[in-house]
Amino acid sequence: MNRREFLEVLAAASAAGFPLAGRGATTRNASNVYDVPRFGNVHLLHFTDCHGQLLPTYFREPSVNLGSGDAAGRPPHLVGEAFLRYFGIAPGTRDAHAFTSSDFIAAAKTYGKVGGFAHLATLVERLKASRPTALLLDGGDSWQGSATALWTKGQDMIDASKLLGVDAMTGHWEFTLGADRVKEVVEGDFKGRVDFLVQNVRTADFGDPVFAPYMMREQNGVPIAIVGQAFPYTPIANPRYFVPDWSFGIREQELQQVVDEVRGKGAQVVVLLSHNGMDVDLKLASRVRGIDAILGGHTHDGVPRPSVVANAGGKTLVTNAGCNGKFLAVLDFDVKNGSVADFRYKLLPVFANLLPARSDMAALISRVRSPYEHRLQEKLAVTEGMLYRRGNFNGSFDQLIVDGLMAEKNAEIAFSPGFRWGTTLLPGQAITLEQLMNQTAITYPYVTVNEQSGETIKIILEDVADNLFNPDPYYQQGGDMVRVGGLQGKVIDTPGHTAGHISYFFPADKLAFVGDTLFSIGCGRVIEGNPEMMWQSLLKLRGLPDDTQFYCGHEYTDANIRFAKTIEPNNKALAARAEQVKQLLGAGNATIPATIGAEKAENPFLRADNAEVAKSLGLAGSPAWKVFAEIRERKNRF
Ligand SMILES: [Zn+2]
Ligand SMILES: [Zn+2]
Repeated sequence: MNRREFLEVLAAASAAGFPLAGRGATTRNASNVYDVPRFGNVHLLHFTDCHGQLLPTYFREPSVNLGSGDAAGRPPHLVGEAFLRYFGIAPGTRDAHAFTSSDFIAAAKTYGKVGGFAHLATLVERLKASRPTALLLDGGDSWQGSATALWTKGQDMIDASKLLGVDAMTGHWEFTLGADRVKEVVEGDFKGRVDFLVQNVRTADFGDPVFAPYMMREQNGVPIAIVGQAFPYTPIANPRYFVPDWSFGIREQELQQVVDEVRGKGAQVVVLLSHNGMDVDLKLASRVRGIDAILGGHTHDGVPRPSVVANAGGKTLVTNAGCNGKFLAVLDFDVKNGSVADFRYKLLPVFANLLPARSDMAALISRVRSPYEHRLQEKLAVTEGMLYRRGNFNGSFDQLIVDGLMAEKNAEIAFSPGFRWGTTLLPGQAITLEQLMNQTAITYPYVTVNEQSGETIKIILEDVADNLFNPDPYYQQGGDMVRVGGLQGKVIDTPGHTAGHISYFFPADKLAFVGDTLFSIGCGRVIEGNPEMMWQSLLKLRGLPDDTQFYCGHEYTDANIRFAKTIEPNNKALAARAEQVKQLLGAGNATIPATIGAEKAENPFLRADNAEVAKSLGLAGSPAWKVFAEIRERKNRF
């Protein structure tokens, strides 16, 4: 443990209520958090996906972030303790709070809000003091995500970016302000100040470049190229009508040509400022030669250390720098004899309490907010629990939104996109209009009410899952699963047929999907479990409401009835059912779904605790599972 780590532990201990140090210790001890010694001769500062957040906020990192295929269990698909272990971050520390959701509410109260452009500006200035030549790069998704960004068509962020000293950026949500607006900014506000770099957007007609693909600069005598890569799926993930004349894509081969071109022009460091998303960047890095680092965004992953990816040309660093202005990355390269010899990387959390607001930026922010301040502060409610968004499958703020949609639109089910932007509210905080807009501020905020079949809903959900979890990253579009309200199901553990067999019950619709545990007038074979286990599973299903309709994995009803009659030849309900099934099948209909109530009277496997049944099998007084085992055994031989 070095001195800094020792102080962090002290700070965490005091936060946890241990009387080791007085209040204010966290602030004092953290003063050196931002001392990043300069290294080498080429310096890059990078932030990404700030999503219009000019003021400090809370932002909870995800507790669920699944990787599929090769990506499972590797950065950026690590959360919580696994994340801390992998990156060697001590639990309970300031960094643990910045990078994970562990103990979020308590830690957020201790360490305070993150981000805010006035605080970010102070940090940029501090780092530039030792690195005057450093380039400041913005990975995009800056002009969208807040009420003021929406109401000013991104102007608040455009002005703030200029004041912050951004040298270059690329884009994604910027395009949802429309192609004309983007062009207006690039050719107006940004001209001679900020380079909007995009190698992968071409005109749809002749394939001409729409933006400058790269810029070249020199630092301490070293020529550097920054290549821009916008979000390749913009017209798919967002409405195409915003960019009708432009064509997007990963454009790997064109990227290789651009890299070769800038190398040909003498660039000794080549950096891709990317909005691909980290999984896409990891694959890209393995296939394109000549890139020293991909400074990535879009997937909002706060990754403390770059992934180093080998390719035919050498090695490429791949990073992702979080979102909402919460992090600033410092990448120092030591370039010797025309190529990168070594590097240092640090992803610094921007703790507003540790970085005083820079006054010129604070003034700009209050100026852009002042016409709207009254509206922004409108208090809609106070939240009792924490409201957050990030996570592969759901977030509490999204739950609030879909619940609201169902109530307002009188809908049975509501869907809301799995956006990764949006801030976090702690219990007891007011939900102001501004906070609500932090989750919903988009240029296409339509809510529609439709009738959809279950089949359509299933197709939609599977399609979204494919976008998120396709094992080939080039087919992933970022974001999380669409949020679903009103489709509440219960998973019931029903082992026996297989050891891991589960069933689903949807209480609102009184529907159950029981797989191969229960069949109509039958049950599944006991393969991986034992009869007692299977009997317990059947009891769980038998305990569902009588009017529950269930769907099983196979329709064996007719054959099952023939067997059931050998167990209970005098069961009148069974005889009536046999007649009904005969008619259904005769008319070419299915006998499924059946109801739990009917099965209780007719299905011998659900009647193993019936004294008459036990007696007729010569097992009077035996435990029900033994009677069940005997019926199952007879059926196996039937
Ligand atoms: Zn984003
Ligand atoms: Zn994005």
